[in-house]
Amino acid sequence: MDAKALSAWLREFARLVAENKDDLTALDSAIGDGDHGTNMDRGLTAVVAALDAEPPETPSALFKKVGMTLISKVGGAGGPLYGTAFLRMAAAADSVLDGPGFAKVLRAGLDGVVARGKAAPGDKTMLDALVPAVEALDSALAAGASFPAALRDAAAAADRGREATIPLVARKGRASYLGERSAGHADPGATSVTLLLRAAESTLG
Ligand code: ADP
Ligand code: MG
Ligand code: MG
Repeated sequence: MDAKALSAWLREFARLVAENKDDLTALDSAIGDGDHGTNMDRGLTAVVAALDAEPPETPSALFKKVGMTLISKVGGAGGPLYGTAFLRMAAAADSVLDGPGFAKVLRAGLDGVVARGKAAPGDKTMLDALVPAVEALDSALAAGASFPAALRDAAAAADRGREATIPLVARKGRASYLGERSAGHADPGATSVTLLLRAAESTLG
């Protein structure tokens, strides 16, 4: 996968976020401040504009542009967390990514979210979808699965992880201010992560 293929992934992520903007916002209205959909859509619209203006030539340049754009255009928790993930991905990316190289990049992004947000699985955050996705991708590739099959596993694991946030009580981010009342709703950030993985499955698989 080169910069062009990976750009198609992130453009598809932007499209899915735009399509699901109202759902993301409704989830964030239930347990946060109702802006996750508009935040992510604003940031990713700016990402697509930046890619159109000057197509990056390497995966690393692409991820750096995405990370910087998200950090500059999106306030709150989600933008800096996603932005940090992409900046870490930029640092971990080789000039062309094979399946294991992509898995390494995604894990670097995950490590960036942990470093920035200090959350753990079970805290009802985006990590509850991202951690199982990265683990599923690694274990499928280690077991000899094809890259498309491994991406399918990763997207399915993200979906299950997101579903599993519904009963959780949030321990990080705004939703944690609600205490027990945060239970009963899926986490918005975990939901946007499922779109990132679904976009990978359909464009890179
Ligand atoms: P804000 O909460 O500032 O309005 P968003 O609504 O864009 O920001 O993003 C909220 C999402 O950010 C949450 O649903 C959660 O998934 C994620 N999040 C919040 N705090 C953390 C954290 N410390 N670590 C990981 N993810 C977090
Ligand atoms: Mg919010
Ligand atoms: Mg906010």
